[in-house]
Amino acid sequence: MPELFLGGRWQAAAGGATREIRCPADGSLVAVVDEGGAEDARAAVAAARRAFDTGPWPHTTAARRGAELLRIASLLERDKADLARAESLDTGKRLVESELDIDDVAACFRYFGELVIEEGDGGRDVDAGSTTVESRVVHEPVGVCALITPWNYPLLQTAWKVAPALAAGNTFVLKPSELTPHTAIHLMRLLAESGLPDGVANLVLGPGPEAGAPLTDHPDVDLVSFTGGLATGRRIMAAAATTVKRVALELGGKNPNIVFADADFETAVDHALTAVFLHSGQVCSAGTRLLVEDSLHDRFVDEVVRRAREIRLGGPFDPAARTGPLISAAHLAEVEAYVAAGLAEGAVLRCGGARPDDPALANGHYYPPTVLDDCTPGMSVVREESFGPVLTVERFTAEDEAVRLADDTVYGLAGAVWTTDPARADRVAARLRLGTVWINDFHPYLPQAEWGGFKQSGTGRELGPSGLAEYRETKHVWRNT
Ligand code: NAD
Repeated sequence: MPELFLGGRWQAAAGGATREIRCPADGSLVAVVDEGGAEDARAAVAAARRAFDTGPWPHTTAARRGAELLRIASLLERDKADLARAESLDTGKRLVESELDIDDVAACFRYFGELVIEEGDGGRDVDAGSTTVESRVVHEPVGVCALITPWNYPLLQTAWKVAPALAAGNTFVLKPSELTPHTAIHLMRLLAESGLPDGVANLVLGPGPEAGAPLTDHPDVDLVSFTGGLATGRRIMAAAATTVKRVALELGGKNPNIVFADADFETAVDHALTAVFLHSGQVCSAGTRLLVEDSLHDRFVDEVVRRAREIRLGGPFDPAARTGPLISAAHLAEVEAYVAAGLAEGAVLRCGGARPDDPALANGHYYPPTVLDDCTPGMSVVREESFGPVLTVERFTAEDEAVRLADDTVYGLAGAVWTTDPARADRVAARLRLGTVWINDFHPYLPQAEWGGFKQSGTGRELGPSGLAEYRETKHVWRNT
């Protein structure tokens, strides 16, 4: 069955190209999928434009759109097992993690469905100071949205965009990562099954420069929402500027995990490990920079290293595995290069640092949990996102120094502070230039709370009421009675 979804019809790529999707855990062939390009991207935009300009969807009531989102959430829950399996085969991620991701995907659709039912389209009357004037501010959909997503949380990052885009009444073209297309294809089937009008949801598959870039400077696209790397984000922002589109960017992070000497030792060690080694570090909010108070450093890092050595690598369906492979051979080589550069710049290797020699892992892109100690802020492995299971350790002696080190990065996505002193936790949290600060925790998020970055981690917010506002235009209607 063809896999591009344009104007309510499944189609093969115009150029007839295909791509082999192989599981990163063992190199096995998952499937051969259609590989689209610029012609398909333009056809998808035309379908989305037509559906927006002439279709019923942008004019449906908020209550109807909310009900549609709740229906989609139920379909996602019904298909959870298949979706989780597909996500794990594409990404190599442990099945238990993929199952949690699909729960979060359904919860995201449910949240935006309930929000738009509760709020309606959120207009308000304004007092114009005259009995002959009625003044009202109303919200409308932005138009045609290009939604471009990465491979690390394929369906979850998609849900964070598709759910609010639909809730606000937009039409869209989705371009998922070329490496992990299967759950996006499945989502399109569910959107069609739920009864969305033709052309509201469109799917283009293919590599970024060929299938994604034509969406970002297309005059008929009104908004681009992108999640991915910083370099791609810069290119997309520049391309979108040619037609002054709205742009929302969720980019990378070099997230600090600050541990004071008075922290609860056990919990802080546990979370320091999951912060960075979850999904082999392929998480935008991964706690890759451990900043630890000097007096605690030796005891804390020794324990982190001891436990990191015990983390078992394995494929998605290995129940004993605690983390999985990297997404591709090319990405594995990049992570290795970051570790080599760190060592050349003076970091001390405490564990990991070489591909595993276990023959059972030989066909996958595995890299072990790696801890680099005695790091300094200038090292490339400290400054740049390796997006792998690599923890760098720096020491500090005072609160001011901890904050300065934490903020010494172009990124500002997320980070954590560990201390049993609530006043210090509040002081530090208030000073950090980060979109999310966890106090004595790492990684949790809520669909009701905004997610996004300060500085070069991005612009705009996903989730929460602001995540819906991204997809709305605002119009002032002045009526002279
Ligand atoms: P990437 O930037 O390589 O690709 C992301 C998407 O953009 C893919 O669909 C790709 O095909 C497409 N793309 C590439 N070049 C393009 C172009 N010129 N025009 C249009 N589209 C283009 O990122 P990735 O390697 O897939 O994902 C990893 C990155 O994503 C990391 O940097 C990570 O931090 C970031 N990320 C951020 C968040 C967040 O919430 N801030 C969440 C997840 C991932």
